[in-house]
Amino acid sequence: MQELTHYIGGAHVKGTSGRFADVFNPATGEVQARVPLASEAEMANAVEIAAAAQPAWAAVNPQRRARVLMKFVDLLNRDMDKLAEALSREHGKTLPDAAGDVQRGLEVVEYCIGAPQMLKGEFTDSAGPGIDMYSMRQALGVTAGITPFNFPAMIPMWMFAPAIACGNAFILKPSERDPSVPLMLAELLEEAGLPKGILQVVNGDKAAVDAIIDNPVIQSIGFVGSTPIAEYIYGRGCANGKRVQCFGGAKNHMIVMPDADMDQAADALIGAGYGAAGERCMAISVAVPVGDETADRLIEKLIPRIEKLKVGPYTAGKDVDYGPVVTAAAKANILKLVESGVEQGAKLVVDGRNFNLQGYEDGFFVGPHLFDHVTKDMDIYKKEIFGPVLSTVRAKDYEEALSLAMDHEYGNGTAIFTRDGDTARDFASRINIGMVGINVPIPVPLAYHTFGGWKKSAFGDLNQHGPDAFKFYTRTKTITSRWPSGIREGSAFNFKPMD
Ligand code: NAD
Repeated sequence: MQELTHYIGGAHVKGTSGRFADVFNPATGEVQARVPLASEAEMANAVEIAAAAQPAWAAVNPQRRARVLMKFVDLLNRDMDKLAEALSREHGKTLPDAAGDVQRGLEVVEYCIGAPQMLKGEFTDSAGPGIDMYSMRQALGVTAGITPFNFPAMIPMWMFAPAIACGNAFILKPSERDPSVPLMLAELLEEAGLPKGILQVVNGDKAAVDAIIDNPVIQSIGFVGSTPIAEYIYGRGCANGKRVQCFGGAKNHMIVMPDADMDQAADALIGAGYGAAGERCMAISVAVPVGDETADRLIEKLIPRIEKLKVGPYTAGKDVDYGPVVTAAAKANILKLVESGVEQGAKLVVDGRNFNLQGYEDGFFVGPHLFDHVTKDMDIYKKEIFGPVLSTVRAKDYEEALSLAMDHEYGNGTAIFTRDGDTARDFASRINIGMVGINVPIPVPLAYHTFGGWKKSAFGDLNQHGPDAFKFYTRTKTITSRWPSGIREGSAFNFKPMD
């Protein structure tokens, strides 16, 4: 059995805690590797190495730091297939989707090549008589990130690319479910010229996370994952005086107005609801058709599309629509929630409960499900399912649809499908959700905009990537300077007292 490592001080390092987690191949259900779970002492060692390496890295001029990222982009492109394959093997998503995971991270790396522009600071000439005032952005020091299983390439890159570009050292604690790609990324960055100790990967579980939160040297924590853990890390991290941003779970609604192009809306829901087996924080998990007639038309269009979905292992080729979910526990949780939906009175119009894939009986595959007549009080509506399950909540009018999305505790993403500009504008303006799509089902902002939800989907002030990342990973220092007049007044050979 393969034993994975940490990546500390520029080398693969075996775990010493004696604790390990199994890494599965979700398509077959087999354990393919075990990953070490770091102790507090292992984390402290990585932090010490980071702290020793960081000042020299911060002193490298920003353009030279950016060149390392430039080279890293080349290496990501060179190794794209290898990275995608390793990612699919541990996560289960299809190969094109895995390449997309790397690509969306790579785009943030590209954006961070512009760091010298973002770090320039501000200057006021003659803020007072003979006084200049300027602000500079300085690196924080040692920073850390804790990432979820569902984007093992993209989300680590969203964090470490800006952190490193700003002159910080970064310690990544990736998900223990799929740790191989993060280790590969660390190797590639060193091949690109990053000094040892600036990006380290310390694998682990809660013990490693707590060792990050409580380590006084670590200045900031970025977290992406489920909401209860986001709240925990945000609370304890802030109490320890750190800068913290935590992104949590989601329940994304897509409102379908009666005037929407129903084929377009149905196609969008299939991709956004079932792509990556629904394991995306920007997946649409709730369809909200406005009016019974719209609902009937939508369901009628969805059913044949869902029945055509091809579920399979990533090895089965490019026509697989989605793969297995990440663990047996995730599968059991999804099926339990489906049962609760049936028991609580929702109508299961596409039933994937008995889905079975020949030859992959032990894999964590979940068939696609579609619920109709879901109501606000049901568990399948209140909870994040994170599986291939789409719930339909019928709204009588636009206002009811809007308030459904607004009243839900999560506020990551949402979408409206309509041909009416006035409705779309009203929706974009009033909705209390961070990322909004208008006839776009998964409105993930590009690298140069910022990414972040509202309500229980995000904790902290700044979003991920875009200009916010440079604020998050630097501290502002403002200097007010006045120089006594001296040599300019002519040469004076006697010693002039200060006035
Ligand atoms: P998770 O919360 O279980 O794990 C995330 C990270 O936290 C992992 O690194 C894990 O090791 C660590 N962790 C787990 N339990 C912990 C504990 N008790 N104490 C401290 N650390 C702990 O999430 P996941 O299952 O890996 O990812 C899926 C979740 O992430 C979903 O809720 C999804 O919506 C969310 N997500 C959100 C975004 C976003 O941007 N808002 C993006 C991707 C995923």
